[in-house]
Amino acid sequence: MAKEKTLADAFHETLKDVYYAEKQSVRALKKSAKAAQSPELKTAFEDHLEESQEQVERLAQVFEIIGKPARAKTCEAMTGLTAEMEEDLEDFGGTQASDDVLIGCAQAVEHYEIARYGLLKTWAAKLGYDEAVPLLEQTLAEERKADELLSNIALGLDVSGETAKPKAKSKAA
Ligand code: FE
Ligand code: FE
Ligand code: ZN
Ligand code: FE
Repeated sequence: MAKEKTLADAFHETLKDVYYAEKQSVRALKKSAKAAQSPELKTAFEDHLEESQEQVERLAQVFEIIGKPARAKTCEAMTGLTAEMEEDLEDFGGTQASDDVLIGCAQAVEHYEIARYGLLKTWAAKLGYDEAVPLLEQTLAEERKADELLSNIALGLDVSGETAKPKAKSKAA
């Protein structure tokens, strides 16, 4: 007979995957901040780096809430995305297209994170992990904001009034 697996098991497995992915994203953001040429892009990466370190801590809190040790499990998706980033940096680093290519890589990471945190948030609500929901929601909002900021930078918009951090509930609605 097949082993009985529950949604709680899926949540735990995904949490381990995202814990790994978030730690990887911290490393990727460090590299991206170093490689960025424009000051506004560098600042965006640095701000989101700081935020991502808090996101790792938030995930550790979620492990605590479900009574499991905080453990990471290799996320093949994030491994692939960061490998692509390395490759793109080798090919385009220091060129005119460098920042645009870097933004593209970073947004792929943000979109993956948005998909995963959205899923974890939905499952946490379904499973009655009520304390985990706002933690995951906060991170999800930060990932969305980071993605939006990168889009604006890519478009060449003036982002001087924007920050990677979702201040209060100003832009949400
Ligand atoms: Fe993140
Ligand atoms: Fe993953
Ligand atoms: Zn994975
Ligand atoms: Fe992110």
